[in-house]
Amino acid sequence: MSVNQQAHTGPPYGQPQPGYQGYQQPGYGGQPLPGVPHSQYGTYNGPMPGYQQPVPPQGYFPSLGFPSKGSPVSLNSDTSSLAPNFIGSLRAPPTSGAPPPASGASLPSGHPVYSQFGQGDVQNGIPASAAQMHRLPASQPFLPGSAPTPVSQPSTFQQYGPPPASAQQLSNQMAGMTIGSTSASAPPPAGLGYGPPTSVSPVSGSFTATGSGVYTPYTSSQGPPPTSVSQGLPLAQPPFSGQPISTQRLPTQVPGFAPPPSSTGIGPSSYPPTTGAPRPSPMQGPPLPGQTVAGPPTSQPNHVSSPPPPSIMSGPHPGPPPMSGLHGPPPPTHPPQPGYQMQQNGSFGQARGPQPNYGGAYPGTPNYGSQPGPPPPPKRLDPDSIPSPIQVIEDDRSNRGSEPFVTGVRGQVPPLVTTNFLVKDQGNASPRYIRCTSYNIPCTSDMAKQSQVPLAAVIKPLATLPPEETLPYLVDHGESGPVRCNRCKAYMCPFMQFIEGGRRFQCCFCSCVTEVPPHYFQHLDHTGKRVDFYDRPELSLGSYEFLATVDYCKNNKFPSPPAFVFMIDVSYNAVKSGLVRLICEELKSLLDYLPREDDMEESAIRVGFVTYNKVLHFYNVKSSLAQPQMMVVSDVADMFVPLLDGFLVNVNESRTVIASLLDQIPEMFADTRETETVFAPVIQAGLEALKAAECAGKLFIFHTSLPIAEAPGKLKNRDDKKLINTDKEKTLFQPQTSFYNNLAKDCVAQGCCVDLFLFPNQYLDVATLGVVTYQTGGSIYKYAYFQLETDQDRFLNDLRRDVQKEVGFDAVMRVRTSTGIRATDFFGAFYMSNTTDVEMAGLDCDKTITVEFKHDDKLSEDSGALLQCALLYTSCAGQRRLRIHNLSLNCCTQLADLYRNCETDTLINYLAKYAYRGVLNSPVKTVRDTLINQCAQILACYRKNCASPSSAGQLILPECMKLLPVYLNCVLKSDVLQPGPEVTTDDRAYIRQLVTSMDVAETNVFFYPRLLPLTKADVDSDSLPAAIRNSEERLSKGDIYLLENGLNIFVWVGVNVQQGLIQNLFGVSSFSQISNALSTLPVLENPFSKKVRSIVDMLQVQRSRYMKLIIVKQEDKLEMLFKHFLVEDKSLSGGASYVDFLCHMHKEIRQLLS
Ligand SMILES: [Zn+2]
Repeated sequence: MSVNQQAHTGPPYGQPQPGYQGYQQPGYGGQPLPGVPHSQYGTYNGPMPGYQQPVPPQGYFPSLGFPSKGSPVSLNSDTSSLAPNFIGSLRAPPTSGAPPPASGASLPSGHPVYSQFGQGDVQNGIPASAAQMHRLPASQPFLPGSAPTPVSQPSTFQQYGPPPASAQQLSNQMAGMTIGSTSASAPPPAGLGYGPPTSVSPVSGSFTATGSGVYTPYTSSQGPPPTSVSQGLPLAQPPFSGQPISTQRLPTQVPGFAPPPSSTGIGPSSYPPTTGAPRPSPMQGPPLPGQTVAGPPTSQPNHVSSPPPPSIMSGPHPGPPPMSGLHGPPPPTHPPQPGYQMQQNGSFGQARGPQPNYGGAYPGTPNYGSQPGPPPPPKRLDPDSIPSPIQVIEDDRSNRGSEPFVTGVRGQVPPLVTTNFLVKDQGNASPRYIRCTSYNIPCTSDMAKQSQVPLAAVIKPLATLPPEETLPYLVDHGESGPVRCNRCKAYMCPFMQFIEGGRRFQCCFCSCVTEVPPHYFQHLDHTGKRVDFYDRPELSLGSYEFLATVDYCKNNKFPSPPAFVFMIDVSYNAVKSGLVRLICEELKSLLDYLPREDDMEESAIRVGFVTYNKVLHFYNVKSSLAQPQMMVVSDVADMFVPLLDGFLVNVNESRTVIASLLDQIPEMFADTRETETVFAPVIQAGLEALKAAECAGKLFIFHTSLPIAEAPGKLKNRDDKKLINTDKEKTLFQPQTSFYNNLAKDCVAQGCCVDLFLFPNQYLDVATLGVVTYQTGGSIYKYAYFQLETDQDRFLNDLRRDVQKEVGFDAVMRVRTSTGIRATDFFGAFYMSNTTDVEMAGLDCDKTITVEFKHDDKLSEDSGALLQCALLYTSCAGQRRLRIHNLSLNCCTQLADLYRNCETDTLINYLAKYAYRGVLNSPVKTVRDTLINQCAQILACYRKNCASPSSAGQLILPECMKLLPVYLNCVLKSDVLQPGPEVTTDDRAYIRQLVTSMDVAETNVFFYPRLLPLTKADVDSDSLPAAIRNSEERLSKGDIYLLENGLNIFVWVGVNVQQGLIQNLFGVSSFSQISNALSTLPVLENPFSKKVRSIVDMLQVQRSRYMKLIIVKQEDKLEMLFKHFLVEDKSLSGGASYVDFLCHMHKEIRQLLS
């Protein structure tokens, strides 16, 4: 198959941070990336002397001597290859066998122009003047220390914070979920805790609630928000418990039922024909999510007590009556059932038919029926009646997209990641930096265990912000450094309490009282607040930075600016594919766009170059040379760097020598026949170079094959797909040697981050090659079967973004917590040498660390719980800084409060990372079962403790978690946990690594892709068409759709699409002429083409990697690949459909409750 499904993507250029949905970025012309971040520290408004722009970076003082190992003496073993060679008379590398080029290529005249960038000086971010902090007007006092009381909030912002639990609100919440089951009294949306939106209109921006046709916007005159539309109805309903008949059909009641072996023996025959049932095309009927909201109420009176199908069922489905099964011959041992009572929030519907035996709806489930005979007529839930991700996303956009999210209140649940909103920092970190699985933590560990809800924070310390938001201010306390608690060393923050007239402060984390240093003293006002409160970011904001003193530096020495080393595989495949030439051409211009501080004319980052196959070639590009020099090291067993002076250079100073080198490299290796490569020695070489230069930095390694040449870290091909579904499957994810783990440790110690660009034509063992990248906080990119024509754009976009993006080096992150909880587990790309500090040789603006918390004591509702994430790192100019993020959470004694303040997207991010780490040690099946079990427990606990009494036949989901089943199912059937036949071992290892560093927005779209009907797009507006659910039955043959998951973009073309549309989009006259080899859409001058291309561009800009574009024609062979991403459907690899999985979860929950 020529299309690799895992093919990755590339970051769009000049683009905003990935997670930031819908942000309309200025185009990528002319901007060195929003990543230019640090530069944008606004000057602080306040009078304090503290916030000026930082000290100039330390100069770089190159050491004069060679590193000891690199002394000429050691060259003896290899003298022939070590003598410096002027490239003018260059020999080919010893192993290449190719004749040397006759002479060096001539220098290009003048500097390369990097046309894509336009004027490089244009800054992406806000100008410094605009970055001034907006002080709050006096009418908006922010009282950080003063707990949660919404009372103290300014009236100007809406309080989304959940009200305290009360039985009434709780039942309301459930009323929103369960039709007929609850006796809800009324008030609003306790479920989500936000009041009626003041405005329905979405914020401006590209990614807004465009589904007006689908979703009936809520207005205040309509009463409570849509999620609780049905809440009034249940009042009149008798409890379900009075009607047991309707609820007795579940498999759990079948004697002898055993938990399903979820990963084995899943014959297709055991599935209900999820797609077999004839269905009307979705385009004909109303299965629009918004409309179904209104459904349940009308049908509700019927669906319990009377067998006839509720009208809602027959209405939208003119085909064969979906409920027909209901009236058909009942299964021998069961009376007919009027409906499978899957009760949900507002948009709830009924079963399509009886499900006498629950025919193995979930993979691996045997027929649970009492008879082993032919599968019973499958009962189907109406997909429109089960919770819809699209609906939830649209609702959140409508309700929360129009107001800024103001962080002044403790424990506020932020808008969803799919909602476009602005953040105002008033004392808690923006959700762009930290998101939590719950914003209300159980007071005791018993409660936490009972609920099984993981308590975790997903932290993205260097997240890119949209231009409208203010970057963290840089606070300089001079030589004394940041003020900290004496005992726990927490940094000064808005939650510290000043006492004794301001002379001491009590730590909000450990309660220890610390003297205020004289230089930091300030009087308190009558409320006990320091009078300089608003002038100091560390007293009034959730996120800020401190300039670190020398005490925070390695060896008590300020760091040198970091270096970038470009290390290019020049073996046969790399040269033949055109890759080497492409990289060299690109670098000539890209080097002018290295990250730099805003106030600096040029980047402080030095660069170096290495090429390699089974030997390494170092280049001296010192500015005083007329031509670059090459030094070859063929003794790869004990790597050293043969030169120091001239290896790492300033781009401007060595411009002509570098240009000459980059011109010559493709020529030098043009005739190479060397196919073997080394790998570990390449990393070692980069590491040694950084060590010798005494700086941190990043290696950009471009690599093509399994390193089988004789050298340390040599690998063998151990791929074996037969291991899938065996106890040894985990070995596919483990490195085949511990060599790389040790190497990673050395790299972290030096601050040597490794970014890996892979171009494999076959297995190259990503699980092993990726170890160093992973543990050093680096990024990995994979372009399987790289072809210049189709893949170069993607690769170049990825490379440009990777080189330019904001990155901190030599980073250490610690998360402090207030008494009662502590960080116990960490997920992400990093290294840990102890149990508290997360170390990253490099940490870029896209990397996320997920931290799990556990109780070690009781928490109190009054004081809540606090997190402080402190990241110590070296900036791109070599400045040592501390970035601090603070977040305050509520604590609860009622489980209902926990369930009301959860965020499912974040929960899924955590669960996916947990599972993806689990596959290293446990059979994949065990991992899947664990996930299912944990989620069943979460939902069962809710049902048992929070939902009002109702029939066991009803599935009742907490409002905030109603998407947990659908999203969990997506994780379970993802390639790592349930691979299809076309997924390679490398793909799985690659995805596993990617997901581990993803933020919440990325995991959200990765597991539940976005599907847009392009033919429904309004060519006259900037908006996206309303997304639809990921199911084949939602697709119409007459339309064109786009599906994106952060790595790929598919454009699916139905067989009946009008010829005019095909002509407009593809420039060909018929469906059959559309080429699915296209990697970009043709540029055609018509509104439809422009619109579609602008949508594609918009999506590319939102993601951290440049997505691969794949054209899929309906009924074409590639369609199978596309269908893999229709995640609500049953998958070819055995993954359950959403409907079936929901039934399965229900069964699991009932088992737990019985
Ligand atoms: Zn403390």
